[in-house]
Amino acid sequence: MLTQPDGLLKYLTDASSLRLPQGHFIDGEFRRSRSGRSMQSEDPGRGEAFADFARGDADDIADAVSSSRKGFAVWRRTPPADRGRVLNRTAELIRQNAERLAIAECLDSGKPIGEARGDVSGAARTFEYYAGACDKLEGQVFPLPSGYVGFSQHEPVGVTAHIIPWNFPISTAARGMAPALAAGCSVIAKPAEQTPFTALLLAELLAQAGLPAGVCNVVTGTGVEAGAPLVAHTGIDHVTFTGSVATGAHVMRACAENVTRSVMELGGKSPVVVLDDCDFDAAIANVTGAIFEHAGQICSAGSRLVIEAGIHDRFVETLAKKAAAISLGHGLRSPDMGPVNSAAQRDKILGFLDRARERGAEFLAGGLAATAAESGKGYFIEPTIVASRPQDDELVQEEIFGPVLTVQKADDADHALHLANCTRFGLVAGVFTRDFSRAHQLARDIDAGQVYINEYFAGGIEVPFGGNKQSGFGREKGLEGLKSYCKTKSIAARIG
Ligand code: ADP
Repeated sequence: MLTQPDGLLKYLTDASSLRLPQGHFIDGEFRRSRSGRSMQSEDPGRGEAFADFARGDADDIADAVSSSRKGFAVWRRTPPADRGRVLNRTAELIRQNAERLAIAECLDSGKPIGEARGDVSGAARTFEYYAGACDKLEGQVFPLPSGYVGFSQHEPVGVTAHIIPWNFPISTAARGMAPALAAGCSVIAKPAEQTPFTALLLAELLAQAGLPAGVCNVVTGTGVEAGAPLVAHTGIDHVTFTGSVATGAHVMRACAENVTRSVMELGGKSPVVVLDDCDFDAAIANVTGAIFEHAGQICSAGSRLVIEAGIHDRFVETLAKKAAAISLGHGLRSPDMGPVNSAAQRDKILGFLDRARERGAEFLAGGLAATAAESGKGYFIEPTIVASRPQDDELVQEEIFGPVLTVQKADDADHALHLANCTRFGLVAGVFTRDFSRAHQLARDIDAGQVYINEYFAGGIEVPFGGNKQSGFGREKGLEGLKSYCKTKSIAARIG
């Protein structure tokens, strides 16, 4: 049953009844930092700290790695069907604790409670999906001459590190941890310092579901103090990183030192290509959701509208009205759009908008910072739409990670394709047209890890996800996502 809004508002003044974890989760228990230090998490909807958490460093990471190495030795030998049962029970426990998880996510990240509930239910589904895969990781038999037998088997890669961003804390934790655990790996997660809690709660639920101590450890703290020693540790066999291109490049350098495998899910500047013959209303709704869901703080947000000239004026005018009608407020009040995650993030976005103003950009909607009407507080940015900008403009080329849509006007579908591919990113693209062939030609020719046709964000955990170009490499989700956590061993024998 969902908590009613009035019931939710009590968490604005007192989050203690959420019983948020106080330490790192290491070796099956919550532990204080070795240094005794802690730090605070801020509720961006109010711009105030609401809870403390442990501030980890290299010493806590060393404890986690040593625990995870022992955990791996146990888990890799656990029968696959038993691993599946633990993951299935975890999915069940996530569902039973859904409201607590969603409220924690809402306070930590700022996202509207409805979006947080969706993320929690997606996390449960992720565990359920990979639970079913544990005992289906089959190898191959190779056709060798008579007298030989050759086959392959999948082995878990070992201790896996998961560096988690602040925009989708529980979703990203689940999509990394669940396939790693399914493959027989142990995991160490380092959630973002802005959003530490749901990864810790997830670790607690995994333990309740029967995961042996040490198989899932979570260390909280900053990227420099806890993230960097984790990815540089020689006891780590694989790193899954989700975050910015600049930090990803740091992490790749650390991985290179130890020849550690990695999957990199980095930034995006994803185009939504809307052609003249689209279903107008559906395209408007999708373009709006693509950029304003979680205030645009989604690596796969549709942040560029590439729109064909014939429909441009009417489309952009309708979109601007829709943006202006979007309500802002604290996530627990179920607004259309919540805050951005921090003062630093707000100021970064404002920097983009101020520079665009100086270059003479026309704002069709928004463009300013805001606060929550009910409190006068919080880190909000108005839903913003900027009229058509040239290809080399910063608003076209750079990831803003905020509720800012940049329009690019296209002469025709070929020009739209050119504009869609004009950045260094290649994460996602949307295509809106009723012309089946045209849609599939664009899907074929756009350089992106995934293309959504006539519904932005279509698909689920079954569909692999990842980037091309500077959006990264490797794929998460789907059975493809499982492969990152497996290494193939080939065995060939002469049997006479
Ligand atoms: P942002 O700049 O928006 O905070 P980042 O890409 O820097 O995004 O952060 C994503 C994740 O990477 C967070 O969990 C953060 O703590 C972590 N992180 C930051 N710097 C490093 C680093 N040098 N090594 C490992 N992890 C890091």
